[in-house]
Amino acid sequence: MPLSAHAQDKPRWTLVIHGGAGIIEKDKLTPEQEAGVRAGLEAALTAGSTVLDQGGAALDAVEAAVRVLEDDPHFNAGRGAVFTWDGRNELDAAIMDGATRKAGAVAGTTMTRHPVALARKVMEESPHVMLSGPGADQFSREQGLEQVDNGWFATPERRRQLEKMKANDKLGWFDVDLKYGTVGAVAMDANGHVAAATSTGGLTGKRWGRIGDTPLIGAGTYADDRSCAVSATGAGEFFIRTGVAHEICARVRFKGESLKTAADVVMAETKALGGTGGVIVTDPGGEMAWSFNTPGMYRGRASSNGERIVAFYGDDK
Ligand code: ASP
Repeated sequence: MPLSAHAQDKPRWTLVIHGGAGIIEKDKLTPEQEAGVRAGLEAALTAGSTVLDQGGAALDAVEAAVRVLEDDPHFNAGRGAVFTWDGRNELDAAIMDGATRKAGAVAGTTMTRHPVALARKVMEESPHVMLSGPGADQFSREQGLEQVDNGWFATPERRRQLEKMKANDKLGWFDVDLKYGTVGAVAMDANGHVAAATSTGGLTGKRWGRIGDTPLIGAGTYADDRSCAVSATGAGEFFIRTGVAHEICARVRFKGESLKTAADVVMAETKALGGTGGVIVTDPGGEMAWSFNTPGMYRGRASSNGERIVAFYGDDK
């Protein structure tokens, strides 16, 4: 069956997740890494699916799925996030509710265990859409979210990547292993509402307070019941310039394109500017799609129709 669900078997709910895109090729992953990534994606699918299967909201499902991936050191979000040039972890996240188009985002947060939960607090408990840096940390404490020492996010593998980058200035700002590990989820619930959430550590060696596309509503994250929900991963600067997530939703809404067509066109436009990465998409009609212009993308999808897929490589179904 093609990736797009047929209209006649519209599922009651859908969930699509990603754990980053990039040079993900069969001979580049050890069996242990592969098993670890697969287990993480499966756990996230289970967390989000459980919410949706019990009639829960798409918003709760995407948060639940992303929280699992934030705790998993295989992904560049929460624990396991990439290091800044100064050897710290500064985390970005966003969440958006397609029913109300309310959104929340945080950039450069350093002490909240689950940045996606902080983004949701910004959406629900503040008059703002985006908070950054020490102010975001302060708001997190005031909201009573779980706090951790910045070192809690650190892993030896990410330290190695920073050292490798510093040893080779030709690598520039791009991830040293040419792999993005940002995580995200999009869902449709039993009421036909969609939501999107994305969380990241950004790019290895980032400095000067660099912020990517992830927490920028319309770039890395967007949800609108009139079109679809999108979460992105990739070279954030290009995704910002293309306005990837909103652009996909706009094409669906105004041109009536299928999710797959809109996502493919926008990923091609992003690539034309020099940007690599991928997106996941779902809509109130229960269609699901993904598109990436890299060799692979860690991804998975599930629906009430009983389908459940975890895939890594470009030629995986
Ligand atoms: N898009 C993220 C950023 O530019 C990186 C990633 O997807 O891993 O911050």
